[in-house]
Order: sequence, then structure tokens, then C-alpha cells
Amino acid sequence: MAATKPIPTLRGEEKVYFEEAKNGRLVYQLCRDCAQRIFYPRTVCTNCMSENLEYVASAGKGTIYSFTTLHVPGHPEFADDVPYTVVLVDLEEGVRVLADLVDCDPDDVKVGMSVEVLFEAVTEDFTVPRFRPSAQ
Ligand SMILES: [Zn+2]
Repeated sequence: MAATKPIPTLRGEEKVYFEEAKNGRLVYQLCRDCAQRIFYPRTVCTNCMSENLEYVASAGKGTIYSFTTLHVPGHPEFADDVPYTVVLVDLEEGVRVLADLVDCDPDDVKVGMSVEVLFEAVTEDFTVPRFRPSAQ
């Protein structure tokens, strides 16, 4: 599978995040010292600066906190995708995640809508977590 769109060079904590996504897990970090939940992945805790962090798998369910629908692509390679919607999702575990919303007409998106994660392989080595309206 060859990429037709730009793919980021992964390093550090984001490399772990996308490796987990490739295995079908949406992860966030948990501080072992103060129990702070952290997203996006970082080197130190956002609350106590501890480096004693672990990755925890989310159930991948949440609600839309906010969203925007793009009608002009941010990069020429995404011209065929517009309009598409980008959402901020509050996961049940208490972290907020930025991702694409799929399987939903932009006119039907609403704040508070229940969504669930799915994983789309962009290449053999790069998988992106995305969200869709919950089946329930
Ligand atoms: Zn902490």
C-alpha cells in the first residue's frame, strides 16, 4: 500500500502512539505518580512533571466537544476529501483527542454526539485513529 498523501515522520512519544494505533489501540498516558491522564503523548506529566508515565488503552468511546468542517483543503493532496470534518472528542477516560470524523454527513455533526474510534491503515506502517458516530 503506497501513500498518496503526506505522512509524518514519527519519533518519540508519537511513534508509540501510532504503533499502538497500528495494533488497533487508541492510547493515552497515565502518570504513575499523580494519576493525571494525558493526551497527546508527552515526555513528562502535565501536572507534576514526572517522567513516570504509562500508556493506557482507551475504550475508544466519547462525545464530540467541538468540530469544524473544512471546505478548502489544508494541503493539495486532500483536495478530493473536502468537505471533511475534524472533531475534538472527549473520551470516556477523561482526555480530549483531535481526529477526523468519518461516516457522517457534515450537516449531521453535533456537539455532544456519541462517537467511537476506528482505525484506518494509510500505509502498511501508518494507521490513523478516526471517529464515526456510535452504532448505539
Ligand atoms: Zn503526574
